[in-house]
Amino acid sequence: AGSWESLYRVVLLGDPGVGKTSLVNLFAGVPERDVPELLGEDTYECTLSVDDEETKLLVMDTWEPDEKNRSHNCCLQMGNAYIIVYSVTDRSSFESASELRIQLRRTRQAENIPIILVGNKTDLVRCREVSVEEGRACAVVFDCKFIETSAALQHNVAELFEGVVRQLRLRRDGS
Ligand code: GDP
Repeated sequence: AGSWESLYRVVLLGDPGVGKTSLVNLFAGVPERDVPELLGEDTYECTLSVDDEETKLLVMDTWEPDEKNRSHNCCLQMGNAYIIVYSVTDRSSFESASELRIQLRRTRQAENIPIILVGNKTDLVRCREVSVEEGRACAVVFDCKFIETSAALQHNVAELFEGVVRQLRLRRDGS
């Protein structure tokens, strides 16, 4: 008794170059090969222990902005949670993040799925184009969680994935 285990699919979205792969690589262990081919190779399974309970995540870094339609729909349909990443050094990636949030809301209208907006590359202080206040305000408007990270400094990356797990559990437990 007591070994309650579940597997959640977490999908990363965001423009190329914002740091999705870097964030996942800090976390995910083994590449998971046993997934539908359509999803590509960049899916990782990792087990996180948060608040004394283990949760398995299937983290999917499969978003390709140029592959429209099938692959996109698949990404937008199959996540149990979403991490939308932009770079604080790239305003257009911040705008893309808003568009992705809108697309996601359209696709998964009735569902209350966890979405975390992530401003990555906070170490590049002098190149910053998007302030922390703007990021936070955007998350309020779009009704999602918000965190700033630096994959390069490994800052807030553990907190990001723990946050995803907590959000998933809140919904599981119906609170
Ligand atoms: P993806 O296309 O979204 O998966 O982005 P990548 O993870 O491939 O990262 C794109 C580039 O940004 C790479 O050269 C990374 O080393 C760099 N990068 C990613 N995260 C950070 C970060 O937090 N800080 C800095 N300075 N560079 C980063």
